[in-house]
Amino acid sequence: MTTLLITAPALGHTFPDHPEHSGRVPAIMQKLEQHNILSDLHLLPPASGLVGQVRRVHTEQLISHIRYTSLHGGGRLDADTYCTLESYDLALQAVGACCQGVDEIMSGRVHNGMVLVRPPGHHAEKKSFGGFCLFNNIAAAARHAQINHGLQRVLILDFDVHHGNGTQDIFYDDPSVLFISTHLYTGFFYPGTGSARETGIGLGLGYTLNVPFPPGVGDNGYAQVFTELIRPAVAAFQPEFILISAGYDAHWADPLASAGLSLTGYAHLSRTLVQMADEWCRGRILFILEGGYFLEALAGGALNSLYALCGRDQIHDPLGPPRQSEANVTDLLYALRQLHFSGS
Ligand SMILES: [Zn+2]
Repeated sequence: MTTLLITAPALGHTFPDHPEHSGRVPAIMQKLEQHNILSDLHLLPPASGLVGQVRRVHTEQLISHIRYTSLHGGGRLDADTYCTLESYDLALQAVGACCQGVDEIMSGRVHNGMVLVRPPGHHAEKKSFGGFCLFNNIAAAARHAQINHGLQRVLILDFDVHHGNGTQDIFYDDPSVLFISTHLYTGFFYPGTGSARETGIGLGLGYTLNVPFPPGVGDNGYAQVFTELIRPAVAAFQPEFILISAGYDAHWADPLASAGLSLTGYAHLSRTLVQMADEWCRGRILFILEGGYFLEALAGGALNSLYALCGRDQIHDPLGPPRQSEANVTDLLYALRQLHFSGS
């Protein structure tokens, strides 16, 4: 079993005092080196991205806007999202690296993998950037799997603490991509979308599954939701490929959020996802980096996901559990099961 790792750290995409900065991927790499996992991985340099890969999921207007702003020196695109002189090329490379990850797995050269890319992508909608994201990397990877490899059903599971509104927007009417997102959902938390009632439209109705958590949901709540809701939904869909929007900002110590996962929780969640891939799609699973702003949790979370991908029975958790007891999800789970599996 071989696990792929592609890194595209986008060192030229960074902004003063911004949480989504150029130190994130190097922090992960340092952790991977310290724990001697790199020699077990199949490392590849990122392929360059093609604008055609981006056009499958974004409008020409959005692509031109980012290219123009970047080539003119960059700046703030909105209150949260920035762009530098190099950002257009680097965002294109992030898309290219994700598509390359799909190619490597589909070729059989590797079993599964992780792509450490920046800028993140899951908030980028068809027509708009936002939430630190320029192009939607995972959406482009899903389309690449379908168009270049002929796959019919792709699962995108987003465990970043923020709702993947961009990915939802791109596939909202599309039954060929099942989008599942677990996220913090309160009146004031970015991006404000992702309620349980958002389940898709038209032919895509029923192919969006949002799990809107209250603050403080931790390892037990996530495990319960994965076992009792997500696993049966994935089983019914029968994916041919699983893509993960891997955000490590649901860790209890993340400065941008108030979820309650520990690094041990991230390890279990990653193992569950790898098991699902083994069960339903010959192990084809690719983790794509999204958020995570406390570097120790980000790096430890990525390490634990790689342990799971390599089939290693190890967990790295120097931070321990959260200090507060976790929120109960029983009622939420009941409501979601009613909504998605009525009659069961
Ligand atoms: Zn996030």
